[in-house]
Amino acid sequence: MSIPLLDLKAQYLTIKEEIDQAILDVLDSSVYILGPQMKALEKEIAAYCGTQEAVAVANGTDALVLTLKAFGIGPGDEVITTPFTFFASAETIAQVGATPVFVDIDPITLNMDLTQLEDKITSKTKAIIPVHIFGQMLDVERVMEIAARHDLKVIEDAAQAIGAEYRGKKAGSIGHAATFSFFPTKNLGAYGDAGMIVTNDKDLASQLRMLRFHGCKTKYYHEEIGYNSRLDEIQAAILRVKLRYLDGWNQGRREKAKLYDELLSNTGIQIPGRDPQALPIYHLYVLRTEERSALMERLKSGGVANAIYYPVPLHLQKAFQALGYKMGDFPVTEKACEQALAIPCYPELSLEQQHQIANIIKG
Ligand SMILES: *Cc1c(COP(=O)(O)O)cnc(C)c1O
Repeated sequence: MSIPLLDLKAQYLTIKEEIDQAILDVLDSSVYILGPQMKALEKEIAAYCGTQEAVAVANGTDALVLTLKAFGIGPGDEVITTPFTFFASAETIAQVGATPVFVDIDPITLNMDLTQLEDKITSKTKAIIPVHIFGQMLDVERVMEIAARHDLKVIEDAAQAIGAEYRGKKAGSIGHAATFSFFPTKNLGAYGDAGMIVTNDKDLASQLRMLRFHGCKTKYYHEEIGYNSRLDEIQAAILRVKLRYLDGWNQGRREKAKLYDELLSNTGIQIPGRDPQALPIYHLYVLRTEERSALMERLKSGGVANAIYYPVPLHLQKAFQALGYKMGDFPVTEKACEQALAIPCYPELSLEQQHQIANIIKG
């Protein structure tokens, strides 16, 4: 029997009644945009993350774009991020007209290497976008200390990390702002596109609310050039149901990860590296091996889905050619891109399936 990388159908079936009812209730209300579900979700996400404000938007990419815009970042500015992340973390910097500047990653956690961060700051730097890769939060307090010395904004890209913690603090609660994606495959996934920004800055939140709605505070009175980036009521209602299960699901992922850690230690395959201060939520469980192609073949013939995150580091993406980076610029990232492989890790995965997967990996 084949095992998918993530089983959205299995998850849906566990909460089908509540989800179906939530969708029907929205249809019955016939309020679809900027309604009570979205406002309630904003309050619930802010409470969950421990922030004053949450602003719902159409997706995680827009969450980054609107936040960069709200901070006034644009042409001539530099924003520092990691080359080992989903494209949007850096794409959005370029979208607002600023220049992405990369810093290599830590070989254990695969998050931004904070020992190299300060060297990348110039007089043009305006912000830092640390990414909590695969659901493991990095030390944002340390990023904030560095940012304070240079008067920079910190935007946590927490798209993969809702519910993750560092020294007991939640992802999204420490930076000047943080962005989430509720793309269907994320730990908290909508049934379509959805995103959110959290912050303790009330002015920033009201600026973001204006930007997501054509630069309006009052309908048809446009104070600036904005966007159409709203989270619809059906997605908000779905997310409100799923948010109630998030901690249980994250705990389920941690348990699966722990068993993999045990089954796969001393096999020559590198299990995910941990920062002892971090409580990860395993958006993905990513192994590393020099024999990746062989491992992929074995998994494939055993019917086990697997995927490379990420095959091409951002500094070597064609779209960023003009930035002038070359192979060798970020060796830790490049090595991770050659070795990393995600295997199925989700709450509905059974013990037998995990043993089956581990046995295939062990060969
Ligand atoms: C998924 C993701 C995004 C983009 O979110 P969308 O909702 O797909 O726009 C941004 N950053 C990271 C790290 C992501 O994983």
